[in-house]
Amino acid sequence: MCGSFPLTPVQQNPVIPSRVCHGEALDCPRFVADSMLGSLARKLRMLGIDTLFLKDAPDSELKFLIRSGGSILLSRDRGLVKALGNLAWQVTGANVREEFLSIAPSLAAVNCRLSPMSLCLDCGGKLIPVSRASAGSKVPPYILERGLVLSGCSECGKVFWHGTHWKRMEKEIRWMEEEIEKERRRDD
Ligand SMILES: [Zn+2]
Repeated sequence: MCGSFPLTPVQQNPVIPSRVCHGEALDCPRFVADSMLGSLARKLRMLGIDTLFLKDAPDSELKFLIRSGGSILLSRDRGLVKALGNLAWQVTGANVREEFLSIAPSLAAVNCRLSPMSLCLDCGGKLIPVSRASAGSKVPPYILERGLVLSGCSECGKVFWHGTHWKRMEKEIRWMEEEIEKERRRDD
């Protein structure tokens, strides 16, 4: 990734440091995903990447938000991406996996520190351990009886249990991590 990677919007962006050759991973950028990218936002949250999903925000609002600083826009809208220059990443693809693959090279370039399963997929809030006692009525009794590990969202208050669905997400996380790693190796 060092030197030979073509200049991307990420690397040109002064507020988002590009990957430091052989250096430590950096904090991940924060993202705003525009309409139709709700599934991609959930995927990035699986990796612990802070992603705000704005379903119905008009372009003018998105531009204002992004230009105010601190976030990168993810969008399928070429005109909007062009207007925001180095503050937006173009998303393409016919499904969410292809959408992820379209930004995997940029994610590899920023070399950010991933924290899988640390964020709520629904709202992006931080997940914290929850005891069986405090989970109360938010978890069905049969789940409590199985003794599964519980995590709760610090923002929306939802409680999640580490069952079959959780394991499926872990598999998806491994796939995403491998794809990012492939991109890193491609350019090393
Ligand atoms: Zn939440």
